[in-house]
Amino acid sequence: MVVRRVLALALAAAAIAAPAGAGDVRAAPTMTARVAPQSVGELLVTFEFDEPAPLFIFQRSGVVRGTGESWRVGHWKVETPGVALRRIGLHDALVATRGNRLPREVKVRMTPFTGLLTAEYTPVVRFTDGTMAIFSDHFAMRPAPTVEAVRALGADINALPNYRGGNALVRFEASDLPLHHRGRERRSVRLETPAYVLVGDVEAGGSEDIATVIDPGLPRWLARQLTEEVPEIMALYRRRLGERSGERPELIVAWNGAPKQRVSLGGSVVGDTIVMQIEGAMLKTPSPTAYGYARQFIAHEAAHFWLGNTVGYGPPGEAWTTEGGADLIAQRVAEMIDPGHDSRPVIEQAIEDCARLSADGALRTAPERHGQDVFYACGAVFTLAAEAVEKKRGGDLFTFWSRLLEENREDGTVSVADWLGAMRKAGGPREAVEIIATMQETGSRDPRARLIQLLAHVGIHVKSDAEGRLRLS
Ligand SMILES: [Zn+2]
Repeated sequence: MVVRRVLALALAAAAIAAPAGAGDVRAAPTMTARVAPQSVGELLVTFEFDEPAPLFIFQRSGVVRGTGESWRVGHWKVETPGVALRRIGLHDALVATRGNRLPREVKVRMTPFTGLLTAEYTPVVRFTDGTMAIFSDHFAMRPAPTVEAVRALGADINALPNYRGGNALVRFEASDLPLHHRGRERRSVRLETPAYVLVGDVEAGGSEDIATVIDPGLPRWLARQLTEEVPEIMALYRRRLGERSGERPELIVAWNGAPKQRVSLGGSVVGDTIVMQIEGAMLKTPSPTAYGYARQFIAHEAAHFWLGNTVGYGPPGEAWTTEGGADLIAQRVAEMIDPGHDSRPVIEQAIEDCARLSADGALRTAPERHGQDVFYACGAVFTLAAEAVEKKRGGDLFTFWSRLLEENREDGTVSVADWLGAMRKAGGPREAVEIIATMQETGSRDPRARLIQLLAHVGIHVKSDAEGRLRLS
């Protein structure tokens, strides 16, 4: 069976931070969007602009996957006279068509858009019972000086001149339909950072560690397994990794139906919220493979609530500390709660991938050469080595990371130097630490041989099988 992960966005914190000019949080917001769901089929959004400008542009202007078109223009209905919704270059904008200033208040009506966008959050994730999870940040806007300035703009909206007001504010207001956020029903939700807000009669489950909101249409076996295991994973993380920063996390799982020919498990993460959209007729009967994918995705992203959110990594070339850490932790937690889970194939694949992907230079400069894949693979292998060191003195991977978290909680960053220092302090052999440091700083001409040596130094033996693939012995 083919399990396709259609969307795995873990957007870097920088990409979702407030734009330049919004530094003073005490300033009145430069704009406010009031989102009032009228029914499951209609949203009324009132934009209030507190700075004079001929146009405001949306902070996110992703396009529809497949067509490359705006999902707003042509679909949203602007009710306020003298205002038009337009695509200008790479950006959607509300533009004054009379005079040189947008009216202070602009009303827009829209049908919830549930399609997928390219490398951008799904605007509305809809459950089979009509419940909607609405992404707040698609309503956040900022002023622009002229249409020409926007047309000349690349994807980075921070290239526009600063504005005076504070962060854009998005307010959800309950109507006949109740609002839910982080496991509680609310009259209104006020957001300065991106989040999904639920609209509808939601039955939130979960635990003190995580709120879970699951589509009633999701196949029962899958809903049951997620409901049982996700709170267990979170409790285990809390016990073993300590306090985390941030609000109570939320898991939202939607069932997108049962097409015969495909199975898809799509996931995205925004702040402390994990959203999954799942579909496929084959999932109507239990599939351990599909469940394994869903659990690995959730366990990896939930590990980032500690490794990633509570402490971050340093510069982009050091992302393997938290990516590899989250990947191996997700495997270990799966073993702890599911005796049937076997991490070995995933780990062997990581060794292969690291050997292949790191052959072209230092990890430090990998982001300039290619994507993040090398960090998952090499990070998992290095983490495996640190875990082996820790095990020799009675600990495990969680011991290693809980110490890193404790020691770096205050400055908020676990750099590669911090990570290597922790491995050394735990009794890691000098040769092993040096192999990792060299792959980080200068790279290796034969990473395959280096990885075999690295693991041998910590007592893990790897051999090539008949096809030349590396196997843990
Ligand atoms: Zn990750």
